[in-house]
Amino acid sequence: MFPRSPLPRLIWAALFLAGFFCASRECAAQRPEASKLGSQEASPRPGAELTLPLTERIGRTSDEVLQKFREAGMTPQPHELTAAERRLVANALAALPSLHRPVLTTHLRSLSFLDHMPNTALTSTVPAPYPLFDITIRAAILPQTATEWLTEKERTCFAATDSAWQVAIEAGVRSALDYVLLHEATHVVDAALHLTPAYSAAGQRLDSAAAKPFTAGIWQDRTQPAPRFRHALLEHIRFRGGPPLPMAQAAPLYALLQQTPFVSLYGSTGWTEDLAEYVTVYHFTQKLRQPFRLVIRRNGQEVFGYEPMKSALVKRRMRQMKRFYS
Ligand SMILES: [Zn+2]
Repeated sequence: MFPRSPLPRLIWAALFLAGFFCASRECAAQRPEASKLGSQEASPRPGAELTLPLTERIGRTSDEVLQKFREAGMTPQPHELTAAERRLVANALAALPSLHRPVLTTHLRSLSFLDHMPNTALTSTVPAPYPLFDITIRAAILPQTATEWLTEKERTCFAATDSAWQVAIEAGVRSALDYVLLHEATHVVDAALHLTPAYSAAGQRLDSAAAKPFTAGIWQDRTQPAPRFRHALLEHIRFRGGPPLPMAQAAPLYALLQQTPFVSLYGSTGWTEDLAEYVTVYHFTQKLRQPFRLVIRRNGQEVFGYEPMKSALVKRRMRQMKRFYS
């Protein structure tokens, strides 16, 4: 799935060639082949980086990740965190669900920030005999709130030709980093614990969607929902590589989203994004007590509002969040 602007298209092409299992516009996460993953109970062999507290793994971006950007003709620059930004990162790590911290402790090699990065974040696999990951995040999100960043991202789905209409996501005033780090860290947890179906190096699916509680009955394939949750308009959104939609399509589009178990448009693009978005929105609303509301306004007046976590279809999956807090 490629965005339409030329430069990002290059990097997505490089990421796809590099074996990234999802490469949508805002987040690209690379998944190791299942044969290189241990069982859920297996512990990776300890390496020097794995003995450090998570806050001490905040550092420079790996050469492999920088090389991938260079190969795509991009030159994002390492971002030196200020003391205040380091506190923000430490707070975001501390706010993660209880399952995330031990998984990151045994599987996260580095967390780093780049200036002039074309996408929001990248979760990539480290070549190693056991699964390790690097998370790289665009430094420009550090001053943003979750509401600001999510709204900015959501508006890329629509053509800004009619200024009377506006789409927004109300997600509170916590840092955008709290949201983005939780989303990316959930990709690590997913890959380490096989929460969504795994693929072989040759691209062959090793598990059926029905074998995983989170995807059973909801997904048919990696990016294809079960027929009853499939709608033409949702399948052509910008997050899936489609063009920005006219604003007049916003209300019908969100009305279709209301008929699915997905918490966001982004979560409807594939099963890994579905899990990352679901865990993130669940944690934001149910644990951090933040709002998460999709809103359409016309001339400043709200004409449509939707809180996914109050939808019966979405709530039905809540019981699967228990494992993240055991
Ligand atoms: Zn993602």
